Amino acid sequence: MDIDNMVQNSALVRAREGNKGRSWRWKEMLRFPHISECRELAKTIERDYYDLCVYQPIGKKLFHLYCLTRPELHNYMLLLDEAFETKTDEERKSFGFYIIHTFIRSQLCVHLLNSSCFSFFFYNFLCPFTQYQFSMHFDRFLQWKHLERRPITKYNFREYRLLGKGGFGEVWASQVRATGMMYACKKLEKTHVKKWQGEHMALNEKELLEEVDSRFVVNLAYAYETKHSLCMVLTMMSGGDLRFHIHNMGKPGLTMDRVYFYAAEVCCGLIHLHQKSIVYRDLKPENILLDDKGHIRISDLGLAVKLEDGDLVQGRVGTLYYMAPEVISKEKYNMSPDWWGLGCLIYEMIAGKSPFRDKSERPKSSEMEKRIISKTVEYNEKFSTDAVDICNGLLNRNPKHRLGCQGLGGKEVKTHPFFRQINFRMLEGGLVEPSFKPDPRLVYCDDVQDIEEFCALRGVVLNQSDGEFYAKFNTGSVPRSWQNELIDTGCFEELNVFAPLRSSR
Ligand code: ADP
Ligand code: MG
Ligand code: MG
Repeated sequence: MDIDNMVQNSALVRAREGNKGRSWRWKEMLRFPHISECRELAKTIERDYYDLCVYQPIGKKLFHLYCLTRPELHNYMLLLDEAFETKTDEERKSFGFYIIHTFIRSQLCVHLLNSSCFSFFFYNFLCPFTQYQFSMHFDRFLQWKHLERRPITKYNFREYRLLGKGGFGEVWASQVRATGMMYACKKLEKTHVKKWQGEHMALNEKELLEEVDSRFVVNLAYAYETKHSLCMVLTMMSGGDLRFHIHNMGKPGLTMDRVYFYAAEVCCGLIHLHQKSIVYRDLKPENILLDDKGHIRISDLGLAVKLEDGDLVQGRVGTLYYMAPEVISKEKYNMSPDWWGLGCLIYEMIAGKSPFRDKSERPKSSEMEKRIISKTVEYNEKFSTDAVDICNGLLNRNPKHRLGCQGLGGKEVKTHPFFRQINFRMLEGGLVEPSFKPDPRLVYCDDVQDIEEFCALRGVVLNQSDGEFYAKFNTGSVPRSWQNELIDTGCFEELNVFAPLRSSR
């Protein structure tokens, strides 16, 4: 084994453990600006209750802290805290009793009959939001926002090993110096983007990633530029991709408990994208990545596209082996290719090979197309009746009759008997433990020297008009991801102390 690879792997493994990766200067890096520096921000920030106090994680925390300073709001805050956390089935029952005892029996908040009534009352009669905006907690929120909005450069990160290679550049393990958070940085070489006219694609991928917010899709934390590349900083997925787990870990295929679990998580990810009118179009084992706990996320939104209401698209994109018949025959489609893709994925996880191609077989494209359009799918003894039925439903050649495309937003897939064992409510709350957990000492990717190097192209000249596109790309921190990073690494808790109101001598 190559020494260089070993050294780089052990450096990465060490950096992933705990939050030892923070720079010794971290407090200085995250020093609050004086409140006078936040005046402009205070003037321009949109005063939207939901955005400032519910959606943004640090905003939510500060709003809660503010409400706790007002005794008449205590019970509402307690309830708000409790009611919006997903509960396990056992917790739900005792939670019900708790609510009845604490809040209703004791008449602490009798007017609280349902959640919309609750929000209405909370918002309109207690008006905490109006007064919050004059509090020191809101000033503190502005200070955090000021830190969040600072420009991002390569100096914000420390780089570890190369993880993989894509069409326009390399992906590197990358750690935020100030917090120790580990991410995967996907770099797009500017010269390559320009040569292959990938500007639209790059911006499309970045903007879609910015918009999605699901535990089953890779998240964007930062977008920035360097002299040579455009960088997307993404959720670190250190458990390898599903292709690796299906084909390189002993006998091809996965155990059924893993198949149900991954299929269900992918299904939730697809439904999230579809709710945002995004067709993913590139579902295949390589694009499904595992994190260190064993949960999966959909990655690589390079081919995804957002549809305007009720629109259809046309376009032969994706990887031929996993392409749906309507895509091959250049028909118009909306979300249907993704459900076909899920069919291929479930099939491959069970059989250890894709439905239209044997392992290590390299059919010509014309042959592949013919098979996808007309070959009957064969199932071996590993497939239960339910497994055959869900695959046949998803691999229906007519999108109108395909499972997932019945105008129910994918509900019919979730309720298929194949998923009998899955509790989707718990799964969506992140409360289901994966049965397989990647080994924290292993690095699940190719050896560094086996990943081909990516060089800048000669003879491509970057100019003024490229700069305009780079500026659109270079938007820095993504607010929700940045705030979660600060909370998850403990930096928020450590720094968010309030000085005593009057200084004691
Ligand atoms: P492209 O769109 O150019 O194909 P990808 O997004 O597929 O690029 O990334 C290329 C490779 O980088 C992947 O095959 C994978 O090995 C690695 N990679 C990408 N995203 C991540 C991530 N979030 N965490 C870990 N590795 C990643
Ligand atoms: Mg890819
Ligand atoms: Mg891509």
